[in-house]
Amino acid sequence: MRDFSHDHRWLSINTATVRKQGDLLAIVEACARHGIRAISPWRDQVAAIGLARAVAAVREAGLDLSGYCRGGMFPADRAHAAEMRDDNRRAVDEAVALGAPCLVLVVGGLPHFSRPGSAPSHDLAAARAQVEDGIAALLDYAKPAGMPLAIEPLHPMYAADRACVNTMAQALDICDRLDPGRTGALGVACDLYHVWWDPDLFAGIARAGRERLLAYHVCDWLVPTRDLLLDRGMMGDGVIAMRPIRRAVEAAGFSGYSEVEIFSEQNWWQRPMDEVLATCIARHREVV
Ligand code: ZN
Repeated sequence: MRDFSHDHRWLSINTATVRKQGDLLAIVEACARHGIRAISPWRDQVAAIGLARAVAAVREAGLDLSGYCRGGMFPADRAHAAEMRDDNRRAVDEAVALGAPCLVLVVGGLPHFSRPGSAPSHDLAAARAQVEDGIAALLDYAKPAGMPLAIEPLHPMYAADRACVNTMAQALDICDRLDPGRTGALGVACDLYHVWWDPDLFAGIARAGRERLLAYHVCDWLVPTRDLLLDRGMMGDGVIAMRPIRRAVEAAGFSGYSEVEIFSEQNWWQRPMDEVLATCIARHREVV
């Protein structure tokens, strides 16, 4: 396993971690100043400054990307199907322009949450089928563009509204059906926040292997968690035993960035950007 204790060369910052403190230009500048080598930006942050400026800023700062957030939200009713398809194709195009190594997919839940305005449905099985169809269709677009798609299983508490793919096994089953040749075009984003509790996590990591492990996201699970979405913890402040998981991920062949992704309305979003980044660097060395 790589030794992270002496430097932070394998640290990436998911830019949602400091989204309240500044725009993407400010985040890029701060990351470069802290010697951070990689980021993973969100589409709304790129849109806010314009794609061309985002591409130029990342390039001028010499930053790598560890991913691009995000495509997905596949379940939709018939009236919203074209919007869903076009939106996802634009996400692929943006990821290509930014030089991202993968487009992260948050696949969506029930159609009226996934694509607001869609007719309400309580059929989770149908939503899961739509997710698989949506990924298959997007793969046909992304593969020729050279943009790998990373399915991010989300914690089951989000099954209704954000993602009805909830475990590594479920994500890998989709990968095996749509990309049986393990070409690298389709894989998973392994986010500790979502998968740490899974008794089959280590089996899933081993099964994924190098070809399927496209991204690795870290933060911590706080007890109590006060908000289902916006109370993620800084690494070391919660209950996730991180080193064994990273050891497994690296043993399976992953050698990319450890991407810190923290949505924290009451805590980290309230602090100065420099303090948050300095803390990410320190905890990356100490506990990741
Ligand atoms: Zn994530």
